[in-house]
Amino acid sequence: MVQDNFHFVAFSYTKILKTWYNRSSKEYVIVENTKETILIVDDSRFQRAVIRETFKEKFRIMEAASGEECLQIIGENPDDIDLVLLDLVMPGIDGFEVLRRRRQMQSFSDIPVIVLTTSDRSEIQANAYELGANDFLTKPLNESTAIFRIQNLLGYKKRVTTLVKKYDEYRTKAEIDGMTGFFNKTATVELISNILTSEANQRHALLAIDIDNFKAVNDVYGHTVGDHTISIVASAIASRFTGSDICGRVGGDEFVVFVRDVVSKQEVYEKIQNVMHLISGNKELSIPENITLSIGLVFSDGTEQDYAQLYAKADEALYISKNSGKARYTEYGRAERTDMGDKNVLVLTGSRNVASMIEFAYDAAVRIHTIATSVQLAEAMDQMDVTPMHVYADISTQKDEGQRMLETIGKSSLAEGKVIVICREGDLAQVRQAVSYPFVCDLIFEPIEPQQLKRRVAALNNSVS
Ligand code: GH3
Ligand code: MG
Repeated sequence: MVQDNFHFVAFSYTKILKTWYNRSSKEYVIVENTKETILIVDDSRFQRAVIRETFKEKFRIMEAASGEECLQIIGENPDDIDLVLLDLVMPGIDGFEVLRRRRQMQSFSDIPVIVLTTSDRSEIQANAYELGANDFLTKPLNESTAIFRIQNLLGYKKRVTTLVKKYDEYRTKAEIDGMTGFFNKTATVELISNILTSEANQRHALLAIDIDNFKAVNDVYGHTVGDHTISIVASAIASRFTGSDICGRVGGDEFVVFVRDVVSKQEVYEKIQNVMHLISGNKELSIPENITLSIGLVFSDGTEQDYAQLYAKADEALYISKNSGKARYTEYGRAERTDMGDKNVLVLTGSRNVASMIEFAYDAAVRIHTIATSVQLAEAMDQMDVTPMHVYADISTQKDEGQRMLETIGKSSLAEGKVIVICREGDLAQVRQAVSYPFVCDLIFEPIEPQQLKRRVAALNNSVS
């Protein structure tokens, strides 16, 4: 126990003061930069040089030319290494054997390992995962993917360290879920319950998060990839919910996030949208492509002091998300929300060309919803509980339909947003029709010129509504 404390203090000391404790000379050496340290383990000097050159700007690099040297360096200075890039095929102790021995070394098993393979063969990757590798990269390395994955894992390591520091009494491994570094269910419930009792009159948020169709991931790719997916999803959640937020894994593919003392609900919505987009637009993440999340959200209203009551509400909202098509979040007590928040744009057009031009003019974080007919618009409005930031009504091709849509807009809350009409260039009758509606704030002419449209969108975003 005493030794444990010492280890912990020494660890934080090295990180906070950016020093490196050299155990052989028994002195602290000031490290001039604050970069995290990566140990490259590869028997090929050439490969080490290539990797070193790729990462030296972003990370501090150490090198080992063999499995033996890797184990020796980590045995002597475990606190100094933040991540290991491990070649699998080496003479002597190869990467697989290093992974096997890592399991027996407490100091090493806390350091994330990315294995380097030259082949895409899933058996090799599966074998490495079975032995405890945290991720893999295929050589030759793609720089941006590699940096993304390294930073993802470094985030995981930091998170565990921060948790360990912050919640001293929850330090023992028994309260931390080994796969994700999140609190386990018992610790999650206890921590949140304590806050609900001691800070009852503040507004908090509780999120129940569940991976969609996760059984299929196990069935198609196997349990090892399933486990890996759980830990990557956890990393994505933790990258957005930080500081005093509490992240727990409460079931196989279920997580709970507690946001303490919420000042702005909008901020919570945005963090949720961010996580959902991070997972579903996951080209850089090493998880199956079609992974999505369903989320239930509840804000405490100052009366709940009981975790079970609050969780039941989040879970009810989660159930609504699951039942209305998954890949979305729902706030308890409100109509179903999609993952769009207020960053959504409604395009009323029957023309694919017009829709794609508008899509091009907005950045990827904005969701474009295209509706082709006034009947569909009326149906969609029944379910809509957020006002789109911009509404485009295309009257250039469908005069009557366009007019019906504009009339529908006029009778709805959509008219409170910014409504832009698309007319045919040089068609004065259409222009007259468009400007006869007082809520129309701008006109765009077909054929649309893409760069010009981008500038108009920027101007719309900047103007005060
Ligand atoms: P839904 O979209 O309704 O959430 O369906 P689902 O397929 O995700 O199913 P559900 O959430 O009900 O079940 C989660 C599955 O996750 C059940 C179990 O087989 C699997 N599972 C639970 N724990 C683990 C784990 O630690 N690792 C792996 N690989 N799978 C797990
Ligand atoms: Mg699930």
